[in-house]
Amino acid sequence: MRRPRPRVAVCGIHIESSTFTPYLSGEADFVVTRGDELMARFFWRDYTWAQAVDWVPVLHAQALPGGVVKASAYGAWKAEILEGLAAAMREGGLDGLFFDIHGAMSVEGLDDAEGDLISAIRAVIGSEPFVSASMDLHGNVSEVLFDETDLLTCYRMAPHEDALESRMRAAKNLVDRVLAPRAEDGSIVRPAKALMHVPVLLPGEKTSTRLEPAKSLYAQLPAVEVMPGILDASIWIGFAWADQPRCQAAICVYGDDDALVRSVAADLGEQFWAAHDRFEFVAPTGSFAECLRVAEGSVAAGRTPFFISDSGDNPGAGGADDVTVALAGLLEWEPLRSGRFSGIYASIVDPVAVAAADAAGVGGRVDVSVGGKIDTRAPGPVEVAGAEVVALADDPMGGRVAALRCGGLVFVVTSRRHQYATAADFARLGLEPTAADVVVVKIGYLEPDLFEMQAGWMMALTPGGVDQDLLRLGHHRVSRPLFPFDTGFDPLPLPVRFVAGH
Ligand SMILES: [Zn+2]
Repeated sequence: MRRPRPRVAVCGIHIESSTFTPYLSGEADFVVTRGDELMARFFWRDYTWAQAVDWVPVLHAQALPGGVVKASAYGAWKAEILEGLAAAMREGGLDGLFFDIHGAMSVEGLDDAEGDLISAIRAVIGSEPFVSASMDLHGNVSEVLFDETDLLTCYRMAPHEDALESRMRAAKNLVDRVLAPRAEDGSIVRPAKALMHVPVLLPGEKTSTRLEPAKSLYAQLPAVEVMPGILDASIWIGFAWADQPRCQAAICVYGDDDALVRSVAADLGEQFWAAHDRFEFVAPTGSFAECLRVAEGSVAAGRTPFFISDSGDNPGAGGADDVTVALAGLLEWEPLRSGRFSGIYASIVDPVAVAAADAAGVGGRVDVSVGGKIDTRAPGPVEVAGAEVVALADDPMGGRVAALRCGGLVFVVTSRRHQYATAADFARLGLEPTAADVVVVKIGYLEPDLFEMQAGWMMALTPGGVDQDLLRLGHHRVSRPLFPFDTGFDPLPLPVRFVAGH
């Protein structure tokens, strides 16, 4: 039955969760939106095509990447989503649902959280509404998620400069489908769909789309998408820091030409496999001590600021954000201890240390024990004596934040887990990374602002919940064989999961 104006619900939970970090993500880590506030996520909401349907925003929860989500938090949001959708079904039904997710959520007790959520949603809305999901390319595509949705898409850029655009593509294709001529029985016409898993698990820092082979692999997608008979095509790198059977790369292709959908998926999957052992880190890598040695040479040669990524505890991928390997190394490093070099370390979460700094005030001195409380691996909390408080600020994500100085090093302590990824983050504390000799950030690949600032960059393969050296982490439950845990196997031809258009 066709309604005078189609109705499309919006919901989702957006987080990537490392199962290797001891941190548990709870309600306080999420920003939850409902109603108009939820729709404000979408810059396209007033576009003509978007105005052709009635949107029914239910609930969206989004967090900085973290640890496994507490079952209680997930359960409460899931219940609210299901109640909202049940009400929408009673009040006028639904033609579509926009599932706005990341795709790498882990929840206590679940192996496929998004699969669990979409299955429960289908049980409420039935099989007829057209479900379109937008995801991060670091999400995982389980067979359940693929089966229960009509269209899955993901970002085509890492760093994710096209995140907003990808959501629009998912929503626009959804609106087009619900507005299109229906089948004889009044049902929405579904595109054919193909899923091909590629038995590869790679860290995001080896798969930047700025570099080959990811660059060429992803660059062809816009041309594929406009082929007659193809609606959308996407490549997922998958999420490396969870130990679940669904974690691996995937290709999904959709369109109205059954044969073409199948062959394009097979082609993309085979291309990915052909490149599987050519992915390299986006920057030179080394231990933290090796990075400091290179930094010293760079500063001596006048190439500043030299950036180091403290990658193993990157909160942007799910690290606890309080591993102290890098901070301890910087505090002991002679060029900074002596004040010969200037350095910035951003950041480490420790609300108790921030409170001490706040109490002392700018210009005051504090003795604090920093970090090592959530992720307690060596070296653990770092004792800092007589640090000068150089700045205090309120950060929209990091909460109350403090900049403390020891010798030539200024290090940032935050009340909440946060990543210093933009120039604005540093500016809030009056810090100027471009004026420093060395800048160390808890991050993997440098986000665009930081990438612009650096005169040299290394990625330190520090330990942590998102260790870039996957073989050190101890995956036990991923499906095998899987590169790089297994090598020298030949998975071709890769099986295609295919559903014809109908
Ligand atoms: Zn991502």
